[in-house]
Amino acid sequence: MSNVPATARPKLVAGNWKMHLRIATARALAEQAAAAAAEVAGPDVAVFPAFVHLATVREALRGSRVALGAQTSHEKQEGAHTGKVSPEMLADVGVTTVLCGHSERRQSGETDQMVRALARAALRAGLTPVICVGETLAEREADRTEEVLRRQVSVAVDGLSSDDLSRVELAYEPVWAIGTGRTATAAMATSAHRVVRDVLVSKFGEAGLGPRILYGGSVKPSNAAELMNSEGVDGVLVGGASLEGPSFRAILLGAVRS
Ligand code: PEP
Repeated sequence: MSNVPATARPKLVAGNWKMHLRIATARALAEQAAAAAAEVAGPDVAVFPAFVHLATVREALRGSRVALGAQTSHEKQEGAHTGKVSPEMLADVGVTTVLCGHSERRQSGETDQMVRALARAALRAGLTPVICVGETLAEREADRTEEVLRRQVSVAVDGLSSDDLSRVELAYEPVWAIGTGRTATAAMATSAHRVVRDVLVSKFGEAGLGPRILYGGSVKPSNAAELMNSEGVDGVLVGGASLEGPSFRAILLGAVRS
């Protein structure tokens, strides 16, 4: 495995709101995230509301340093794709970053190749793709974690230029840790992140050191700081614990104090 030197990458705390909230509660949560972000100079902050809440959340975040993200997009720019939303539409509404290949979408049919197409489409539209990767429990128990991560990352970034890669982020999210309350240990996260980084560096050389790699999977105030400070972890992608203003704030402030 390549010897990967530590590089200064600003941390990121991101909240994936999934299919939760209503307009009023999404607005209130966005206001709380903006207020929490204003309390600290770093890390970077982003929230990923449902499509129907994007415009409301954009207004609530106006003037704040919280980035607006979307949970997925379509690969095409426009066309007869009923129910789909293109990355260009997302950019038009003020989105700057989009999740690609979240495990909840891979479980309903998104393949590695589709995730690559989605990441490329996001880049085309000027968005930052956050490419999500991670092994299932069965894959971990079969000692296939490294193989799965290598495949998912290699396919997702295949064909990108170094310049493209500089606009990409990744999230290691072990499927068995998402929404389950089971969290990877710091050692597990570090070892998985090392594999992801190694794929990037093997393919892109020094440019492979650029992208942030987040950890996601049952992150909460009590474990966020330890995970965030694990070697090779550049931030956290938080699901359930991002849906309460105080816990998202605690994660954010803990990241700074630790
Ligand atoms: C996620 O959905 O990306 C996630 C990490 O969820 P949770 O924090 O609830 O496990």
